[in-house]
Amino acid sequence: MKSILKKIPSPLKGEIVERQEECRICKEKIGKQIGEIDYWDIKSSKIIKCEKCGLAQLDPMLTEEETSKGCLAYYIEESLRVSEKEEEKNLLRNFRRGFLFGMSLKTKGIYPKEVLELGPGSGYFANGIKFIFPNAKITVMDVNREMLRLNELHHHYNIIESSLEKYIPELDNKFDLIIARDILEHVIDFSKVIENVKSYFKEKGLFHFITPNGHEDIWKHYLTFNYQNAKSELLINHVNYFDGKGLLNFLLDNNFSPVNYYTYKLKTTRRGRGWKISKKLMAPLSKKKNADYYIDKKIAEVKSINFDKKAVLNKWYISRNRKFLMYIISWYHHANILKLSPELNVGHEIYGLFRITKSNNT
Ligand SMILES: [Zn+2]
Repeated sequence: MKSILKKIPSPLKGEIVERQEECRICKEKIGKQIGEIDYWDIKSSKIIKCEKCGLAQLDPMLTEEETSKGCLAYYIEESLRVSEKEEEKNLLRNFRRGFLFGMSLKTKGIYPKEVLELGPGSGYFANGIKFIFPNAKITVMDVNREMLRLNELHHHYNIIESSLEKYIPELDNKFDLIIARDILEHVIDFSKVIENVKSYFKEKGLFHFITPNGHEDIWKHYLTFNYQNAKSELLINHVNYFDGKGLLNFLLDNNFSPVNYYTYKLKTTRRGRGWKISKKLMAPLSKKKNADYYIDKKIAEVKSINFDKKAVLNKWYISRNRKFLMYIISWYHHANILKLSPELNVGHEIYGLFRITKSNNT
């Protein structure tokens, strides 16, 4: 086992180049080029890994307009690809995950009162938390109006329509729990988002996130670039690729201390992501997919989101009188049994729960 782990993850080879834009974490002006992508037909960028702080990013980064255009095109493409039934199942899955997360806080003696979720998706994760803490007040922030509408309709949360990079002074010192699940890899300015999050916390607040292990996430683009010498296609806007150690150091520097920090889902690693050179693992070559085609021509085929919350959560085990069974079933579906240190850069996803200490001058 140890000898295998020595080869995994495989180090990324690449040429050191001058960056068009400096690293968003450490302001470094050079970096290692490990990929080249086309984001739809919207933008071409390099993927540059910063040797100093470990963060890999698109260079140049997408702008806000480019992001929202690509996200809309992706939303349409995905809606036409994923069945309604599967989407509905995902709502239930996220509810169970939120429930489990809430239980894990409760066993630690933590009872959040003011919760902010960044990029809440369907809002069902937060709803699972609310099942455990019925008095918790939930606020959600997103740029996508349609998503916010769903959150308001199904869950009656407070909604804030805003990009995460925009600082909102009214939120200062307000929250004891802030959640960012599968969102940090999408943000244009990671440092700015963390700076805002820090201001929004009460003293000793908790920050929970999940985000892909950047090394594995980037692997497909790296292979296409290095072994096919070609640009690859990026349809979903993963613009940050986190290094487990670099992310930890950045959070430590910002007065966050880890409560739980690990990677999980090792199936992808077994299949070769992050270390194996194979054609199957390469990202598709860029076709510069036409975003306007989806936005102008295909949008009419998308049905509006029309789930009935009661039907989604109508399961025999979801009941206040059956919390133990609910826990067992949720645990069976979603528990992460095998956990490794993110600093190893193996595994599909990074899980973080951090506690903030605010100094007097912030
Ligand atoms: Zn850097």
